[in-house]
Amino acid sequence: MADVPKGAILQRDKETYAIVPRIPMGILTPEILEKLADIARRYRVRIIKITSGQRIALVGFKAEDIEKVWKELDIEVGPAEGPCVHYVQACPGTETCKFGQGDSLGLAAKIEEMFVGREDTVPAKTKFGISGCTLNCAESYLRDFGAFATPKGWTVVVGGNSGGRPRIGNPIAEKLTDEEALLLLKKCLEYYARHARQKERMPRFIERIGIEEFRKGVLSEE
Ligand code: SF4
Repeated sequence: MADVPKGAILQRDKETYAIVPRIPMGILTPEILEKLADIARRYRVRIIKITSGQRIALVGFKAEDIEKVWKELDIEVGPAEGPCVHYVQACPGTETCKFGQGDSLGLAAKIEEMFVGREDTVPAKTKFGISGCTLNCAESYLRDFGAFATPKGWTVVVGGNSGGRPRIGNPIAEKLTDEEALLLLKKCLEYYARHARQKERMPRFIERIGIEEFRKGVLSEE
C-alpha cells in the first residue's frame, strides 16, 4: 500500500482520505468556514463531519491532492492519530454561558498552546476536557485530563475515558486558581509522560498504579 500522505487519514474505501484541520476548542470564524466551504466545493468533498473533538473533518480527498489542499487551507493539521495531545475540548464557560463559573475557553486555550500536537510529550493519544461549571458539558470526567469550574475554583480530574472501556476520572485537587489548575495539569501530564508505558492511555495507567500513587507522585514532584 502507498504511504499515507502527511496530515491525511485513510478511509474505509482504502482509496480516499480525510483531513482534520486544527480548530482550537471548536471556535470557528466566518473566514475559517469560508475556507472550508471553498475547499469542500472545489474538491467535491463527499462528507463534512463535525467530530467528537469539536473539529471538522473533510472526507474524500485523493492522495495527490492532500499537500495542495493543506497549502490552500493554510490551517494547521489537527492531530488525529498517534501518541500526542490531540485536542482540548471546552465548553463556552463564562464567555457566554449563563451557568459559567470559570473561563473554560481561556484555560483550554492555554493548554492547547502548550501541548497540542507536540509529539515528544506523551506515550499515547491524550485528550483534555475543560468545563466552565459542574454540569461538565465538555465531558471533563471522561477525558484523560480534565478540569471543571466551581464557585470556589477549578477541580482537576484525571484518568477518564469514554469509548470501549469507559472510565470516570478521579478528582485530584479542587478550589484551584487558573494558574494553579494549569500548573497541576502540566505536572500530571509530565508525570504520565515519564512513568506510563509506551502506548498506555492515561486511564489504564491510573488503573495500573492506583490513583493514590499517582497523586503522591505528582504532588511530590517539583
Ligand atoms: S459546563 Fe456549565 S458553563 Fe459549560 S456549557 Fe455546560 S452549563 Fe455552561
